[in-house]
Amino acid sequence: MSHAGHAGAAGDSRHSDKSPRVANRAKPARLAEMSNFDIVNHYFDLAADRIDVPEDLRAVLRSAYREVQVQIPLRQADGKVHVYSGYRVQHNGARGPYKGGVRFHPEVDLDEVRALASLMTWKTAIVGVPFGGAKGGINCPVDDLSKAELQKITRSFMDKIEKVLGPTRDIPAPDVNTNAQVMAWMMDEYGKLHGHTPAIVTGKPISLGGSYGREAATGRGLIYLFREAAPALGLAPSESRVVIQGFGNVGGWAGRIVQGLGAKVIGVSDAHGAVHSEAGIACDELHEHLRAGGKLAEFRGVDVITADELIALECEVFIPAALGGMIHGANAESMNCRMILEGANSPTTPAADALLHDKGVTIVPDVLANAGGVVVSYFEWVQNLQHFRWDEREVNDKLGTIMRRSYREVSARASEQAVSLRIAAYELGIERVMEAAKARGYIEDGPEG
Ligand code: GLU
Repeated sequence: MSHAGHAGAAGDSRHSDKSPRVANRAKPARLAEMSNFDIVNHYFDLAADRIDVPEDLRAVLRSAYREVQVQIPLRQADGKVHVYSGYRVQHNGARGPYKGGVRFHPEVDLDEVRALASLMTWKTAIVGVPFGGAKGGINCPVDDLSKAELQKITRSFMDKIEKVLGPTRDIPAPDVNTNAQVMAWMMDEYGKLHGHTPAIVTGKPISLGGSYGREAATGRGLIYLFREAAPALGLAPSESRVVIQGFGNVGGWAGRIVQGLGAKVIGVSDAHGAVHSEAGIACDELHEHLRAGGKLAEFRGVDVITADELIALECEVFIPAALGGMIHGANAESMNCRMILEGANSPTTPAADALLHDKGVTIVPDVLANAGGVVVSYFEWVQNLQHFRWDEREVNDKLGTIMRRSYREVSARASEQAVSLRIAAYELGIERVMEAAKARGYIEDGPEG
């Protein structure tokens, strides 16, 4: 499983059977200033206040439609039975089938999954793909499990939640510490009960109906947005220094793609530590190095730094691509960047958000920035339903069109209303969900309606 641990972000991280089971000595600081749930609700409330969402409707939009919690017992190598909890939260389905990833992480709990499910509702609405929002997770210690154990856990999870899933009901995908292999097991298990159903999950291996471009999609989407947002800040991608917190699927791809534009990646971290090189870190080589079981700190030509030093590096673009809450009230002041591209889900606490806003840092928020993953998941689902396959170029072009259009819509609203990109994005997302709910007759339109 991913030994980048915290480096999975909004997309899937990679499997590697060679697990450097080292202790997490240099674990990046994650302050328990606020839970993901409180972070997401705080931003939701700010936007809902501004667009006058009525109190009763707000209560509906804040809570989830359905929450499933299941028990996943597993007899492990120590001979004992360990019991894990699996969750699937379906937040809102007004705009279409529920959609969202499944993460494996020991800290997963119901509140976190709830928060992440609601983020998916806003995210799919902001980029205009016809899905609602959901999220799943299992609180298992991925780094300590064998591949066979992970397969058992995944199949057992699918057996217990399949009743609420379906290609027109709820479609899971990869997230932190899950990947194409995990999706293949999920699809296979679902298929035993329902017949071969590729559209039941997205982010599958290419050999099983996965889409070209899906694995890189979240990272690629981030960089499309960087290109779109850069001119307003007077930034040129080819002259930019980039720092990446979390070198899993999202961070790794974002680094490789941004380097292709001539940018220099000068700092990188994973769950085990952080490194710096003013001359630039070759992300392609670093990716290969980590995949072969190498450690970040042992990569050639880099200086080992602390997680706090990484946050404070002077750069043009900082990409948080790890877990939530990593940019908080105690470290935001030290940041030295012009733009933050949120590859992770809810990486920035409200205290940090306000502080960075005062410092003049532009934050491209998670619900917009990391939506590339779910956009290409949508493409994968469409291809599966049509039994057809697009080539990678077509996928990337279509992704670019959607990301650019979404950025323009959000930034136009932000300038018109003089609000942050985050608040503008939430407003747009909430309005679209309300519009769909109204059209379905779930919301009363008032006497004249
Ligand atoms: N886990 C990703 C996210 O947080 C992708 C979800 C999907 O493709 O459904 O956006």
